[in-house]
Amino acid sequence: MNERELLIEGLERCAPDYPPQAVDNLLSFSERLREANLHMNLTAITEPNEIVTRHFLDCAVLAPMLPQGARVLDLGTGAGFPGVPLAVLTGAEFTLLDAQRKRVDFLNETLAALGIKNARAVHARAEEFAAENRESFDFVTSRAVAELNQLCELALPLLRMGGVFLAMKAADCEQETENALNAAKVLGSAPPEIIRLRPPFSEAERAVVRMEKIAPTPAAYPRRFAKIRSKPL
Ligand code: SAH
Repeated sequence: MNERELLIEGLERCAPDYPPQAVDNLLSFSERLREANLHMNLTAITEPNEIVTRHFLDCAVLAPMLPQGARVLDLGTGAGFPGVPLAVLTGAEFTLLDAQRKRVDFLNETLAALGIKNARAVHARAEEFAAENRESFDFVTSRAVAELNQLCELALPLLRMGGVFLAMKAADCEQETENALNAAKVLGSAPPEIIRLRPPFSEAERAVVRMEKIAPTPAAYPRRFAKIRSKPL
């Protein structure tokens, strides 16, 4: 199968409600990603079919969890994962946050070029962004950013009450989730729930750790990043 056939077949299986322009948008995104990657470090995955399976379809499994109009923050989006595929596939409103300016510039140029209106990229560290944007999001997503106990402190302050943190993790994330139980509780989350998914054309199972905010996050959090890292909750 070529990349287009692979993408269409995969989306039919895991995110069948995708809008008609999604396939062209994602293939254009792939092309821009590969081009920009020649002169900056965006992704280690460069083969077109692998971009479809290991980036797009890996992220697409979250699409059915994000309702129309939901405000979603993608924390540590990097080259736009999972935020860009999810913005293309859903009617949710995305803020793509990253601490690296070059990646944010690449994303804003790409969103404008592709005419993607329901996403914008913002350059900031999550723990600093939280000062101005506390309790502002219905969902926070993240993939490959940090250990879950540290991620909780970055993500939960940004969620409104009843909001949901979806942390994409490897299948064997039980111990990591166990280590984050205290952080989850202190920061206002219900006990984490591990959702197991199988992205199309993938050998490996994928886990999503789901945390629902059921109590306000105490004002002392998030702390500065050095503290979060040296003394995780
Ligand atoms: N989510 C992407 C990128 C993972 S690399 C993917 O799955 O492909 C991790 C990214 O998180 C980097 O781009 C880094 O700049 C960003 N990051 C790490 N800590 C951060 C923080 N505290 N605030 C904002 N971005 C952060």
